[in-house]
Amino acid sequence: MPENTLPEVFVERLKAIVSLEDYPATLASFAEPSATAFRVNTLKATNENVLAEIGVETNSVPWYPQAFLIDPQYRDALTQSKAFSEGRIYIQNLASMLAPLLLDPQPGEEVLDLAAAPGGKTLMIAAMMENHGRLAAVESVKNRFFRLKNTIQTFGADMVELYLKDGREVGWKVLERFDRVLLDAPCSSESRFNVNDPKSFSHWNERKIKEVQRKQKKLICSAIAALKPGGVLVYSTCAYSPEENEMVVQHALKKFSGKILIEPAEIHLDNFRPGLLRWKKKEFDPSMKQAIRVLPNQFMHGFFLCKIRKICI
Ligand code: SAM
Repeated sequence: MPENTLPEVFVERLKAIVSLEDYPATLASFAEPSATAFRVNTLKATNENVLAEIGVETNSVPWYPQAFLIDPQYRDALTQSKAFSEGRIYIQNLASMLAPLLLDPQPGEEVLDLAAAPGGKTLMIAAMMENHGRLAAVESVKNRFFRLKNTIQTFGADMVELYLKDGREVGWKVLERFDRVLLDAPCSSESRFNVNDPKSFSHWNERKIKEVQRKQKKLICSAIAALKPGGVLVYSTCAYSPEENEMVVQHALKKFSGKILIEPAEIHLDNFRPGLLRWKKKEFDPSMKQAIRVLPNQFMHGFFLCKIRKICI
């Protein structure tokens, strides 16, 4: 059982985060990576062209017509294909496609992606906006910024403006400018832990979670500052820790008291669970139940998503 190799404290915490019923499958997910999925880049291709070109058996995804699942044995064929190297397909876990869907960006709008590299969600947002409007993508780590720049070029997301900046400061310099903001925050990446790769969790401890939480709190406040009244923020992480999820959103609710609210998502899947209403001694706003804890399954890894609207006053 993977329970033996993952940090004991992590496993104990997980038991308290997910229900007794969901715990065995969640634990098993650390030993069984979820299926390989890809997204057709509609800035360069259509589903029909791509499916004919790659010649690999695919399964469609009911909630997103541009997404396809493949048998993991075909992953190499996909990464070696011209469709991949020329940017017609983007290999991406299905869970990662949920944040742009929740954000629901429209052509012609002004959108900010505050922590963008390697760029999978930026590309999806550009495709949803049909390369029309304004999409600003911020990344603070230099080598990741250049990787992002390269991806944006390969995938033809011409509308994207790139900024090598600290997202904690950006929002305060572009007050109430954006219709929508995505904050796919740097996190402990707990849902990506792999028992067969101890390096994936060797850095984990509760002190590190507190450290990353401090950054997430600053990033979320910057994201809200950048949002127009009436605009939408999606906050997401691939961590299970309530410290990095509900507690960060609760911090924003307190800082922007009466100016923001949590909204329900339009997407509902079997593996979605409501946000927690308490963690240890901390109680959260009752609207936190509208946040989504995505549990891992055979199709996707774990995720946390919360849709927040800035109120027009
Ligand atoms: N949204 C990306 C995607 O789908 O490809 C993944 C984003 S990843 C979870 C978080 C990113 O935030 C990392 O690339 C990290 O380098 C970057 N980051 C960390 N601190 C930051 C900061 N202060 N400002 C902006 N970006 C930051």
